[in-house]
Amino acid sequence: MSHLVALMYHAIYANETELETIPEEDRPYAISTHQFEQQLEILKKQNIPVLEPQAINQTPPPIRGVILTFDDGDQSFFKHAYRILNDKGHKAMFFISTDLIDQRDDFCTWDELKEMAEAGMLIQCHGQTHRFFDDLTEQESRSEFHTAQQTLQQHTGQKVYAISFPGGRYTEKDIAVGKSLGYTCFYTSEIGTLQTHRVNNSSPLPRLPIRQNTSEQEFLLMASADSRYIRKETFKNFLKKMMKNILGNTLYHSLYKAVTG
Ligand SMILES: [Zn+2]
Repeated sequence: MSHLVALMYHAIYANETELETIPEEDRPYAISTHQFEQQLEILKKQNIPVLEPQAINQTPPPIRGVILTFDDGDQSFFKHAYRILNDKGHKAMFFISTDLIDQRDDFCTWDELKEMAEAGMLIQCHGQTHRFFDDLTEQESRSEFHTAQQTLQQHTGQKVYAISFPGGRYTEKDIAVGKSLGYTCFYTSEIGTLQTHRVNNSSPLPRLPIRQNTSEQEFLLMASADSRYIRKETFKNFLKKMMKNILGNTLYHSLYKAVTG
């Protein structure tokens, strides 16, 4: 069993006012700066290494540790995540939807992302428009991969070889298209650990989502790749997917809302 995991973050907020600027549907995935600092403290106390994102591609790969990933491009990537990580000497991977940069006030700017890249953060692809890849034709998929790659490289000077699929949604065709354009890392929202053979084969890579209600105890189970926890979460996800398939997305979401309030 691998003890290597990728954690998936979204926005980070310093206070209630900042939380309110985050779209309501994204708030369950936003955490406070305090929570984020506490989580880094747990990693330190438990001697769990924060790996540089490229470390999983080394041979032999590390056997234990976490990779920190962030999706979308919220302004807090620069304002909070980068500042906190830099203070502690950590590196992380930031997946950006390129069309949203310099367009939305609540997102980072290219100047900020360039500064982060120069400081050693990896700025990689989250598509061009944030459309879900499983809704796209092969040609549209190719265009998303390619345009985002060109735009990111132009602004940051970094080689773009990794994507996290928006909404975690993709099909096999998208992996093939990505590979043909030089992508070798395909991050998803499936649950699991980073197993060496998957990394070496450029197979889809799972991540563990950090939520606003992720307790310190649960965080430790994630970061230490606790096998019971991973099995339980995998099963929960499987049930969720099955329910969605049976009920359809819309009915599933209204039922989910009714049950969880
Ligand atoms: Zn996203």
